[in-house]
Amino acid sequence: MFREDNGLVFGSLCIDPHRSPRQKNVFLSHAHSDHVKLSKKSIFFATPPTIDLVKERFGMADFCKVDFGEKKSISGEDFEFELFPNGHILGSAQAKFSSGGKEHVFTSDFRLQDSLLFKGAFSQAGGYCF
Ligand SMILES: [Zn+2]
Repeated sequence: MFREDNGLVFGSLCIDPHRSPRQKNVFLSHAHSDHVKLSKKSIFFATPPTIDLVKERFGMADFCKVDFGEKKSISGEDFEFELFPNGHILGSAQAKFSSGGKEHVFTSDFRLQDSLLFKGAFSQAGGYCF
Protein backbone atom coordinates (compact mmCIF):
# COMPACT_ATOMS: atom_id res chain seq x y z
CA MET A 1 0.00 0.00 0.00
CA PHE A 2 3.00 2.34 0.42
CA ARG A 3 4.79 3.72 -2.61
CA GLU A 4 7.32 6.49 -3.27
CA ASP A 5 6.39 9.85 -4.85
CA ASN A 6 8.41 12.76 -3.41
CA GLY A 7 7.92 11.00 -0.07
CA LEU A 8 6.05 7.89 0.91
CA VAL A 9 2.44 7.72 -0.26
CA PHE A 10 -0.35 5.64 1.29
CA GLY A 11 -3.49 5.63 -0.87
CA SER A 12 -3.20 9.21 -2.10
CA LEU A 13 -1.84 10.60 1.20
CA CYS A 14 1.75 11.78 0.90
CA ILE A 15 3.87 11.23 4.01
CA ASP A 16 6.80 13.47 4.97
CA PRO A 17 7.48 14.87 1.49
CA HIS A 18 11.09 15.68 0.65
CA ARG A 19 10.04 17.63 -2.44
CA SER A 20 6.94 19.67 -3.14
CA PRO A 21 4.09 17.16 -2.82
CA ARG A 22 1.85 16.48 -5.80
CA GLN A 23 -0.87 15.09 -3.55
CA LYS A 24 -3.64 17.21 -2.04
CA ASN A 25 -3.36 15.49 1.36
CA VAL A 26 -0.08 15.25 3.25
CA PHE A 27 0.86 13.84 6.66
CA LEU A 28 3.82 15.39 8.48
CA SER A 29 5.22 13.06 11.15
CA HIS A 30 7.34 15.78 12.77
CA ALA A 31 8.98 19.14 12.17
CA HIS A 32 12.54 18.17 11.17
CA SER A 33 13.52 19.71 7.83
CA ASP A 34 14.09 16.36 6.09
CA HIS A 35 10.40 15.52 6.67
CA VAL A 36 8.77 18.81 5.67
CA LYS A 37 8.19 20.39 2.28
CA LEU A 38 5.21 22.72 2.19
CA SER A 39 3.00 23.53 -0.76
CA LYS A 40 0.14 25.98 -1.19
CA LYS A 41 -1.85 23.25 -2.98
CA SER A 42 -1.91 20.69 -0.16
CA ILE A 43 -3.55 20.15 3.22
CA PHE A 44 -1.06 19.10 5.90
CA PHE A 45 -2.24 16.74 8.65
CA ALA A 46 -0.12 16.75 11.81
CA THR A 47 -0.29 16.97 15.59
CA PRO A 48 -0.87 20.45 17.05
CA PRO A 49 2.74 20.79 18.35
CA THR A 50 4.13 19.75 14.94
CA ILE A 51 1.93 22.31 13.21
CA ASP A 52 3.15 25.03 15.59
CA LEU A 53 6.80 24.09 14.97
CA VAL A 54 6.32 23.84 11.18
CA LYS A 55 4.63 27.28 11.06
CA GLU A 56 7.55 28.76 13.03
CA ARG A 57 10.28 27.13 10.91
CA PHE A 58 8.77 26.86 7.42
CA GLY A 59 5.80 29.24 7.22
CA MET A 60 2.10 28.99 6.68
CA ALA A 61 0.13 26.38 4.80
CA ASP A 62 -3.28 24.77 5.06
CA PHE A 63 -3.00 22.63 8.21
CA CYS A 64 -5.39 20.10 9.76
CA LYS A 65 -4.79 19.18 13.40
CA VAL A 66 -4.89 15.52 14.36
CA ASP A 67 -4.56 14.63 18.03
CA PHE A 68 -2.90 11.47 19.29
CA GLY A 69 -5.45 8.66 19.44
CA GLU A 70 -7.89 10.42 17.09
CA LYS A 71 -9.03 8.27 14.16
CA LYS A 72 -8.94 10.38 11.02
CA SER A 73 -10.44 9.61 7.65
CA ILE A 74 -10.08 11.65 4.48
CA SER A 75 -12.87 12.09 1.95
CA GLY A 76 -12.34 9.81 -1.02
CA GLU A 77 -9.88 7.51 0.76
CA ASP A 78 -10.62 3.91 1.76
CA PHE A 79 -8.52 4.02 4.92
CA GLU A 80 -8.36 5.78 8.24
CA PHE A 81 -5.30 6.60 10.25
CA GLU A 82 -4.52 7.14 13.90
CA LEU A 83 -1.50 8.88 15.38
CA PHE A 84 0.63 7.68 18.29
CA PRO A 85 3.63 9.40 19.91
CA ASN A 86 6.96 8.00 18.74
CA GLY A 87 9.31 9.56 21.32
CA HIS A 88 11.44 11.45 18.75
CA ILE A 89 10.74 15.19 19.25
CA LEU A 90 7.91 17.41 20.48
CA GLY A 91 4.72 16.45 18.61
CA SER A 92 6.32 13.66 16.59
CA ALA A 93 3.97 10.88 15.58
CA GLN A 94 3.81 7.44 14.06
CA ALA A 95 0.71 6.65 12.04
CA LYS A 96 -1.29 3.44 11.96
CA PHE A 97 -3.29 3.06 8.74
CA SER A 98 -6.32 0.75 8.70
CA SER A 99 -7.68 -0.40 5.37
CA GLY A 100 -9.67 -3.46 4.32
CA GLY A 101 -9.05 -5.24 7.62
CA LYS A 102 -5.28 -4.72 7.39
CA GLU A 103 -3.09 -2.38 9.39
CA HIS A 104 0.09 -0.68 8.22
CA VAL A 105 2.32 1.53 10.35
CA PHE A 106 4.64 4.35 9.39
CA THR A 107 6.92 4.93 12.38
CA SER A 108 9.04 7.77 11.02
CA ASP A 109 12.03 8.57 13.22
CA PHE A 110 11.38 7.07 16.63
CA ARG A 111 12.89 6.36 20.02
CA LEU A 112 11.88 3.32 22.03
CA GLN A 113 13.45 4.32 25.34
CA ASP A 114 12.19 7.15 27.53
CA SER A 115 14.34 10.31 27.35
CA LEU A 116 14.51 13.29 29.70
CA LEU A 117 11.79 15.02 27.66
CA PHE A 118 9.64 12.29 26.10
CA LYS A 119 8.33 8.85 26.79
CA GLY A 120 9.60 6.28 24.35
CA ALA A 121 7.37 5.04 21.55
CA PHE A 122 6.94 1.72 23.32
CA SER A 123 5.65 3.15 26.60
CA GLN A 124 3.40 5.75 24.96
CA ALA A 125 1.74 3.17 22.77
CA GLY A 126 0.54 1.43 25.90
CA GLY A 127 3.13 -1.30 25.65
CA TYR A 128 2.29 -2.06 22.05
CA CYS A 129 5.07 -1.13 19.68
CA PHE A 130 4.27 -1.18 15.99
ZN1 LIG B 1 13.63 13.60 12.84
